[in-house]
Amino acid sequence: MQYILAIDQGTTSTRAIVFDHAGTIVSVGQREHQQIFPRAGWVEHDPMEISANTRDVVGEALARADLNLGDIAAVGITNQRETAVVWDRTTGKPVYNAIVWQDTRTQSIVDDLGALGGGAERYQARTGLPLATYFSGPKVKWILDNVEGARAKAEQGELLFGNTDTWTLWNLTGGVNGGVHITDVTNASRTLLMDLDTLDWDTDIAAEMGIPISMLPQIRSSSERYGNGGPGGVLKGVPIAGILGDQQAATFGQVCYEVGTAKNTYGTGNFMLLNTGEEKVPSRNGLLTTVCYQLGANKPVYALEGSIAITGALVQWLRDNLGMIGSAPEIEVLAADVDDNGGAYFVPAFSGLYAPYWRADARGALVGLTRYVNKGHLARAVLEATAFQTREVLDAMNADSGVALTELKVDGGMVGNELLMQFQADILDVPVIRPKVAETTALGAAYAAGLAVGYWQGLDELRANWSEDKRWTPGLAAAERERIYRNWKKAVTRTFDWVD
Ligand code: ADP
Repeated sequence: MQYILAIDQGTTSTRAIVFDHAGTIVSVGQREHQQIFPRAGWVEHDPMEISANTRDVVGEALARADLNLGDIAAVGITNQRETAVVWDRTTGKPVYNAIVWQDTRTQSIVDDLGALGGGAERYQARTGLPLATYFSGPKVKWILDNVEGARAKAEQGELLFGNTDTWTLWNLTGGVNGGVHITDVTNASRTLLMDLDTLDWDTDIAAEMGIPISMLPQIRSSSERYGNGGPGGVLKGVPIAGILGDQQAATFGQVCYEVGTAKNTYGTGNFMLLNTGEEKVPSRNGLLTTVCYQLGANKPVYALEGSIAITGALVQWLRDNLGMIGSAPEIEVLAADVDDNGGAYFVPAFSGLYAPYWRADARGALVGLTRYVNKGHLARAVLEATAFQTREVLDAMNADSGVALTELKVDGGMVGNELLMQFQADILDVPVIRPKVAETTALGAAYAAGLAVGYWQGLDELRANWSEDKRWTPGLAAAERERIYRNWKKAVTRTFDWVD
C-alpha cells in the first residue's frame, strides 16, 4: 500500500501530512515558526527556519506512521501565498527575510505604481488583482530597492524569487545542487506579475516594478511532475507532483469542482473561493479573480476570491497581546458566558481592510462600548468579527456571480468553534457545513500530486472521499440578523482614514 505526502507551508506553521487512498490522515508532523514583527505593519519569516522545519516535519510524519520513502507515491506542496522569498542561487541563502502576505511596508510602492495611471485598478484587467500591499510583486521590488547590492545581483541573474512553494520545492529538489525553480499557476496568479489569460509573466508589469524576468520561476500547472527529491535530501527520489496555493488547495480538497461551488477557510485570515469554471469573472464588488487550479495539460479553472486578512489572527492577538485567554479554543468558553455581544463590535483592520473594501488607510476599532461590556462580550465581538466579514464577502460573491450561494462548506483552524459556526449560519442565513477531513488544504495538495502520478484516477474518485461531519442551520430572526449586520457596517466606517 502506498501513500501521498502533503507539505503545508502555512503562515504560522509547517506541516507534513500522510494521506491514504481514502483521503484519510495517517500521520502528521508539525512545527511552528517565529513571527517576526520588526516594526508596526511589518511581518517577516526566516526562510531558513522554514526549510529546516520542512525537513523535520517530513521526517516526523514518516516516522510516526513507520513509513519509508518507498511507501510514498508522490508529494504535494501547498503554501501561504504572496509571501515573498528572494535568495542567491549560488549560496542558497535568502538575501532578506521572507516578507509575509500581511505586511504593509510596500504601501508607498503601491501608491507610486497606481499614480502612473489607473490607481488601484492599474493591473486589474490583466492580473485579476487590485494593486495592494498584499501581493508578492511589490514585496520583491522592496527587497531589490532596499537590500544593499540586491538589484545589481538580480540584474546579473544571481537571485531567485519565489513564494514559499517555490522556496520549498527548490530546496527539496536539491537547492544549490540542481534544485528546480518552478511555481504553479495559482501561486503565480498572486504575484501581480502574471497575465490571467496567457498564464505567463507579464513583462510590462515586471518592467514597471523593476523585477528582472530571470529571477521569476517557471510557471507550470498545479498537477504534474516537477522533479524528484534531491540526492541526500529527506525526499530522495520521490516525485514532487502537485503545487497549489493554500486557499486553492482547500478548494480542491473540498472537491469544489463544479461551477458555482464554494468553500470558506477560517485560519489566520479567511478566504472564500467560488469556482467559476473556465470563465474568468471580473469583480465589481471588491473580490479577486484568480486561478483556482490547472490539472496538467487541461484548461485552467478560475475562481472569485474574497480575502480577509484578520480573523483567527484576532483570536491570537487576544491571546498573545492582551493575555485574555491562554489558548485559542478558550475564547469559546469565555464567549459562552454571555448571550450576545453587549453592543460591542470589533473591526480588526490590523493590515488595513482587504475584501471587499481594499482600504489601506483603515486601522482596527473597538466600538459600542459601555460600562456594561465585559470580557465575555469582547470574546463574542472577536468571534462575530469573523462571521460579519464573511457575510460581506458572501454578499459580494452573490452580487458578482449573480447567483446566491445556498450553503457554505467550511474548514480551517477556527471551525472547531461551535459558537462561531452557529453564529456564522445565523448571520449568513445559509447552512454551514464542515467535512470529516478538516485538513482540506493539505488534502488538496495531496490530491493534485496523486492525480499527476495516477494514484487517483480522476475527480470522481476524489468526490467520493468527501463526507459531511456537521451542519449548522440558521436560526436567527431576519430583523435581528439585519440589525446587528447594520451595526457592523457602521463600525467598519469608523476604521477608515487612520493612516494617510
Ligand atoms: P493557518 O493555516 O492560517 O496558519 P489554521 O487553519 O491552523 O491557520 O488556524 C489557526 C487559527 O485559528 C489561529 O489564528 C487561531 O487563533 C484560530 N483558532 C484555532 N482554534 C480556534 C478556536 N477554537 N476558536 C477560535 N479560533 C481558533
